[in-house]
Amino acid sequence: MIIVLRPDATDEQIAHIKEKLEGLGLTIHVSKGKERTVLGAIGDERILQEQPLEAYPGVEKVVPVLKPYKLASREFHSEDTIININGASFGDKKIQVIAGPCAVENREMLLAIAKDIKEEGVCFIRGGAFKPRTSPYTFQGLGLEGLKYLAEVREKTGLNVVTELMDPRDLEMVYEYTDVIQIGARNMQNFRLLTEVGGYDKPVILKRGLSATIKEFLMSAEYIMSKGNQKVIMCERGIRTFETSTRNTLDLSAVPVLKQLTHLPVIVDPSHGVGKWSLVTPMARAAVAAGADGILVEIHPNPENALSDGEQSLKIPVFKEMMRQIRLIAGAIGREI
Ligand code: PEP
Ligand code: MN
Repeated sequence: MIIVLRPDATDEQIAHIKEKLEGLGLTIHVSKGKERTVLGAIGDERILQEQPLEAYPGVEKVVPVLKPYKLASREFHSEDTIININGASFGDKKIQVIAGPCAVENREMLLAIAKDIKEEGVCFIRGGAFKPRTSPYTFQGLGLEGLKYLAEVREKTGLNVVTELMDPRDLEMVYEYTDVIQIGARNMQNFRLLTEVGGYDKPVILKRGLSATIKEFLMSAEYIMSKGNQKVIMCERGIRTFETSTRNTLDLSAVPVLKQLTHLPVIVDPSHGVGKWSLVTPMARAAVAAGADGILVEIHPNPENALSDGEQSLKIPVFKEMMRQIRLIAGAIGREI
């Protein structure tokens, strides 16, 4: 249930309604917009059928929520959510680029990549320290050592760090070293993991599951948000289809669909979406044109020797050319990179 308050509702009136509904066993989320405040009542809504809520001072109207996801829905929060991370925002005019290797492999390589991406004005470096690999016999990531290299890069360059969390047992450790926690595609429906990150205040990049519908994707965001953490960035990274010429099928229509359904920022990972470096730039261009709030891309100084995902990693000059091209597209649609 959504309770839309009058533009002139006072803080006392809001507190009174909140107290009353909490007393009925509901959890109340307050969304303060520029124009007005909206309350989201979560719990057994049947309780509310008996309540003359529209009679409360300050209430304009009561709207039942039709979507199974509430906090993530535009019905609850009509304005775009802007997530500010140390001065760099997702969800406003600027399109953020997140670039880096698939996995943190060593310190020198990470420092070199950091220098290259800073030259392009990028504010986020990515790199996995814990890697969800299909085979248990392949490189699994450097773990804590990798996190420490990421933290050193942040210290030296001011870049924000994005890294994946796979296991709730590593949450406190990852929390300490990263600015944004990535939940990978394979864990999109690891509800325990989602619940845990929901209890922390760190922004989360939530990747779409390999065969998740948009509704399931939004329900996973709802898991995180229902625990208190509203800083969720949705990431389309390709889904499984019958097509085999690309690693996945990058569902770019997910971008405008999500933008209609949710107020959360939406970014695109063309690297995992296509799995081949030569297809990454065209799909990055298309993602920007489709309205993405960010691009997440894998790069490597020497993809031939990469310990994971070398085939989809851009060499540095190719990455720089991609940046030039997507800047042009962004400018054409009134945005900037
Ligand atoms: C990654 O970003 O390195 C990754 C493993 O992505 P995904 O979870 O989308 O496969
Ligand atoms: Mn990868």
